[in-house]
Amino acid sequence: MTTDKFEPSSDTLARMTVAERQKYLDAKLRSFVDYAYKNAPAVKERFDKAGVKPADVKSADDLEKVSILRKDDLIELQKKNPPFGGYLAVPISKLERVYQSPGPIYDPERMKAFALPPEMTPDFSKGQIVMNTWSYHLVPAGLMIDKALRSIGCTVVPAGTGNTDNQVQIMHDLKVSGFYGTPSFLKIIIDKAEAMGYDFRKDFNLKWAVVMGEMGGDVLRKLFTEKYGISCLGGDTYGTADLGTVAVGCEKRSGMHFAIDAIIELIDPATGKRVGAGEVGEVVVTPFEEVYPLIRFGTGDLSSYVSDPCECGRTTYRLTKILGRSGDAVRVRGMFVHPRQSDEAIAKYPAISRYQLVVTRPENRDEMILYVELADEKVDEEKLKADLDNDFRSVCKVRFDRMELVSKGTIAKDAKPIVDKRSY
Ligand SMILES: [Zn+2]
Repeated sequence: MTTDKFEPSSDTLARMTVAERQKYLDAKLRSFVDYAYKNAPAVKERFDKAGVKPADVKSADDLEKVSILRKDDLIELQKKNPPFGGYLAVPISKLERVYQSPGPIYDPERMKAFALPPEMTPDFSKGQIVMNTWSYHLVPAGLMIDKALRSIGCTVVPAGTGNTDNQVQIMHDLKVSGFYGTPSFLKIIIDKAEAMGYDFRKDFNLKWAVVMGEMGGDVLRKLFTEKYGISCLGGDTYGTADLGTVAVGCEKRSGMHFAIDAIIELIDPATGKRVGAGEVGEVVVTPFEEVYPLIRFGTGDLSSYVSDPCECGRTTYRLTKILGRSGDAVRVRGMFVHPRQSDEAIAKYPAISRYQLVVTRPENRDEMILYVELADEKVDEEKLKADLDNDFRSVCKVRFDRMELVSKGTIAKDAKPIVDKRSY
């Protein structure tokens, strides 16, 4: 897909009005769909089956006519038609690399490199020695990040995974200033260094880290910053092995800005329709990636988005945090409630030791009861209920019908936070 038309920079795109950008994206989508239909046999087959012609997709709204492509579908397609299931839109000899991720699933190397956090400019990267602990073996993460870091002038230590003792030594001896990996692996390295007798703050030179890829990384980010003086860059970054980077946090730390070289939708898993700002839906992405045009790829991850402009000046919509996998959420009176949301609402109350939400459907109306075990029996029940009612509604966007206190030991330690007892 070549175009000699003027292409605005990604920063310009991120800061234009929503309407202007939509116009740009719609035009890009039209030529992209046309290109994908002509070059990727699986795209043609999918469109033909749905009775949709490329010309029917005039804007992002029209994507709803095309079904969502799931990872399981891709695995099946690859089995039937190896290696890429008909989605590769260039000759295989044009690829620099081919990966295989667990699944198993083959992944062609894409044209687009991994997106670095906005703070990481070529200026910032001067003299930075960065340890990249993402795997370099078969999966794309390590090499993608390596390429992006070298492109802005960082010196990369391709550490990969495993052998913590050696990683500690490398980080120390090379005076590594930056780290890429999971928050839990950085924690393991720090713990190991301390167990080896080092004072991590004094004896190491680690100034910043881009840690991602795990649920609940915020607690560790806070620890790295407060206890060890390590700046956690990029806020959150959200991406998947199939798609690359989908959304990146900014300096204002107020969510993850949608990538501008993709159409990102949030889809109600039950109805298949788009959800509005603040509502929970599955992240579905159409990346403008000419090598492997995965139109409407369903990530299976639930999130929500905010549409108002960010304080940083960018006008792109922002994903809030990833709430979990779509299979874990329970729909109550039209709204999805995910255990991560209810955990978040309840976490503010140390007086609550365990809880469980039970959803039933008496007389054709969803009813959600919050059962609560208290750590401290002396709590003002009415006040707890009123406060919790507010917090729960603001996090989960739906109210529980009533709260019931139960005696200690009623809720099993490993009980599911949300139980759906409805039968239809
Ligand atoms: Zn921002």
